Amino acid sequence: MKWTEFFIPTSKEVPADAAVPSHQLMLRAGIIRQVVAGAYTYLPLGYRSLRKIEAIVREEMNAARGIELNMPAMQPLEWWELTGRAAAMGDVLVRLGSSGGDDWRARTVLGPTHEEVITEIVRAYVNSYKQLPLCFYQIQTKFRGEARPKSGVLRTREFLMKDAYSFHTCKEGDGGLDDTYDRMYAAYCAIFSRSGLPYIAVEADSGPIGGDASHEFMVPTDAGEDYLVQSEDKAYAANLERAEVAPLADEGGAADAPLTEVHTPNLGTIDEVSTFLKCEPRKMIKTIIYEANGEALVALVRGDHEVNEAKLARAAKVGMVAAADAALINKITGADVGFAGPVGLSARIIVDQAVTVMHDAVTGANKTDYHITGVNPGRDFEVTESADIRMAVKGDCAKNGSPLTFKKCIEVGHVFKLGTKYSEAMSATFLDVNGKSHPMIMGCYGIGLNRIMAAAIEAGHDEKGICWPMSIAPFQVVICALDMRVEEVSTLAGKLHDELEATGIDVLLDDRDARPGFKFKDAELIGIPIRVTVGKRGLADGIVEIQTRRTGETAKVPPLDAVDTVQKLVQAAMEADCARKTK
Ligand code: ATP
Ligand code: MG
Repeated sequence: MKWTEFFIPTSKEVPADAAVPSHQLMLRAGIIRQVVAGAYTYLPLGYRSLRKIEAIVREEMNAARGIELNMPAMQPLEWWELTGRAAAMGDVLVRLGSSGGDDWRARTVLGPTHEEVITEIVRAYVNSYKQLPLCFYQIQTKFRGEARPKSGVLRTREFLMKDAYSFHTCKEGDGGLDDTYDRMYAAYCAIFSRSGLPYIAVEADSGPIGGDASHEFMVPTDAGEDYLVQSEDKAYAANLERAEVAPLADEGGAADAPLTEVHTPNLGTIDEVSTFLKCEPRKMIKTIIYEANGEALVALVRGDHEVNEAKLARAAKVGMVAAADAALINKITGADVGFAGPVGLSARIIVDQAVTVMHDAVTGANKTDYHITGVNPGRDFEVTESADIRMAVKGDCAKNGSPLTFKKCIEVGHVFKLGTKYSEAMSATFLDVNGKSHPMIMGCYGIGLNRIMAAAIEAGHDEKGICWPMSIAPFQVVICALDMRVEEVSTLAGKLHDELEATGIDVLLDDRDARPGFKFKDAELIGIPIRVTVGKRGLADGIVEIQTRRTGETAKVPPLDAVDTVQKLVQAAMEADCARKTK
């Protein structure tokens, strides 16, 4: 490909509204252009890269025995109501129209994912154990009403996902869910390695999609919105929503202070009360009231800790918890918001492990403008249900005692064991060998292709621009012909271009009539892994220069050896990328 016949609108300006490196560089390198908030055009350079990612994903999914199909973005709202996700997803579910009645638009959504559609297909065509297992996948555009699209293509409202769904008669054994889950997990490792991403697989919470096991694939980078929690000995890794902590040691101390009511007028927050009573937040018990399945659910955590709602829901064995409104809080506690406490409270209470080892603590008095001091769990309120329901924080250890570390990261892929949530809701059943009917057991597996691209840039860039992994670079080699008007140069550059292309290498020939510095800057910005420089001066010495973008290493070789040298570098870079997994 010749630069002058292609379209690469590079720019020196750092876009003011782009905060993270991948966003800035994708705009500057002419890779993407925003159309509306959360939706981007992939310009020709970007689209080449996206197609390469797609090819890797497709190859690995086929190798893992996935069957490809293609489902539409448009889906009936009715199926989302059947599975209860129309409500659970809220505004994330993009509806075509808001007017009610018979209007087809009001009954149609744009799929944020495709569990409902695929389950309906399997329900229609599969009814015997003999037809299972099945594993389908597609590479298709998703729509999500993200409240805050941000960080370029890392979080958008329209994006490309590879989503796969598997259906089984059993969890374990031949053809079971576990078998396919493990195969998908391995395929994901292969996809991310081949894409040159430094990734790590972590335990994750399955969230509103439901299910009983899941793993996320994370790329550590400051541009991420998630946190990777890992033990120092690397034996444990989870995302922050999931991360379990070791119980804390007993605080010690007397634990014999009498219960004392104190007047705390208009002081409803932990900070206000702790300042007023001159006690540290960690000496207070925070009482948070939720609603789950239409009933109040009370969570107790230490004043300096935060409730982890995913853990709380799991501990309480409820699908979801939602913050209670003021009316419910008032009904349960008989007081205004800010004065709840466990003493004398009649509701289901889940006590965080760290609260069970506190003594002489401070809590709300269930009376407006009052708190009580000298509160001892077990003595002053019953601890019937205790669990790990808080966010992990610095200083916590994993259950094996190894200290936890926290790193920002991007989620690039997610695998779930769904169980029977969708098959039950949509009656996707099969008859077993005895003619008995059961709901199918399902798994689902998603990868964001655009996120792979942005994560690769986050993980590979420097002050000059992008450093693409070889496997997903829009071009693998750029030939900078420095003096296009010198015939010897243009002829050799053209010849190298054709020869490299003939060996199957993606090569871009910068044939613009521009200064060397200008061409080099562009080549660095767009991040092509290998640059071949053909110039008058080099040719006078009988050499061309071959430089590796990532390391800056340069080799000077006779023109006759150039193709061979480049081929070897491309091969070595592909192999090195595969070995970049973070462990
Ligand atoms: P997040 O927690 O980042 O919102 P998610 O957990 O909702 O993502 P999944 O439903 O697991 O995402 O979707 C599978 C994959 O799709 C994710 O791992 C991610 O790579 C990609 N993805 C999800 N949401 C977006 C988005 N808004 N923009 C780009 N890619 C996305
Ligand atoms: Mg996810």
